[in-house]
Amino acid sequence: MTDLPTIPEHLRPEDGRFGSGPTKVRTEALRALADTGAELLGTSHRKSRVRDQVQRLQEGLAALLGAPDDYEVLVANGGATAFWDMATHGLVRERSRHYVFGEFSEKFSRSTRAAPWLAEPEMVEAPHGSRPAVGPSEVADVHAMTHNETSTGVVMDLRRPDDDALVLVDGTSGAGGVPVDLRETDVYYLSPQKGLAAEGGLLLAMCSPAAVERIGRIAAERHVPPFLDLTIALDNSRKHQTYNTPAVASVFLAAEEVEWLNERGGLSWAVEGCRSKAEHLYGWAEQAAYAEPFVDDPAARSPVVATVDLDGVDADAVNRVLRANGILDTDGYRKLGRNQLRVGMFPAVTQADVEAYTACVDWVVERLA
Ligand SMILES: *Cc1c(COP(=O)(O)O)cnc(C)c1O
Repeated sequence: MTDLPTIPEHLRPEDGRFGSGPTKVRTEALRALADTGAELLGTSHRKSRVRDQVQRLQEGLAALLGAPDDYEVLVANGGATAFWDMATHGLVRERSRHYVFGEFSEKFSRSTRAAPWLAEPEMVEAPHGSRPAVGPSEVADVHAMTHNETSTGVVMDLRRPDDDALVLVDGTSGAGGVPVDLRETDVYYLSPQKGLAAEGGLLLAMCSPAAVERIGRIAAERHVPPFLDLTIALDNSRKHQTYNTPAVASVFLAAEEVEWLNERGGLSWAVEGCRSKAEHLYGWAEQAAYAEPFVDDPAARSPVVATVDLDGVDADAVNRVLRANGILDTDGYRKLGRNQLRVGMFPAVTQADVEAYTACVDWVVERLA
């Protein structure tokens, strides 16, 4: 550590958290949590103090994402990963179609493939760094899409295919930073430790009437383990509760972030901020002699997770120096196996800090060359 170069103070970002998940949690939100003192943590999640926070999160999120009036906001434990098993049990009737273009989109398909009560999933795959084309299916009753593929830094256009299948969208890292029209989706689900700058462990899902109907019908037809049962999750969500005990800090931090975004102008404000940070970062990568955006198609480049290939300099070495200087977690996704930086530019990350980040990388690369 001692022999690694020290980046000059004036170049460094104010906040060094650039991870793609978990992501920067605003310290103001942490202070607000601490300020609840004896009022919230350590009190019953069946009573109004906690349930009011759950409701604040549900209503704030519906407003942020522009949920139609007849969509319900489901709250449960276990995050997006739990949702994949919940959907495998309780939303896919016979067969799902998966749009696979990275690690997270692929993981959901592993759940449905392994389920003996379902037929082999249909796979629409695209090479890492690109995105699959959406279209109708002859056989599937669920389309599984991913708004932002966090592993590769690719965004998907969300469009309802011309068929009767439900559209389930993983919005974990896209929510809050990428435009969305929830009418194009039946379930838009997320974990709050990425785009929403909170802690993990929680599942949030905007559910259309068609999704709610399917959930009820399947639960009446086959056994679903209670922890994964979406009818139980919906019943509890309507009372601003969860089936089992939630992490209340996670609820509070997500509610704080959502309120913070809504007060500043909501999704369009957040989207514009992310677009501007992305413009800087990809522009820098295009100009730098040693860097290049990993995603060729500018329209597919994520405004919240930038992936940048390095040439002639070792990304691990760059990240080691950055880390020693308090600039954290911009390693590429391991399984992608590329010489790459991956930079989180979520709504909580400031433009000034993204600009400081690229200046620091330039400084480090010059020292390492
Ligand atoms: C991180 C991530 C997940 C997994 O979230 P967990 O909270 O760990 O279950 C799923 N999907 C996407 C797109 C992610 O980025």
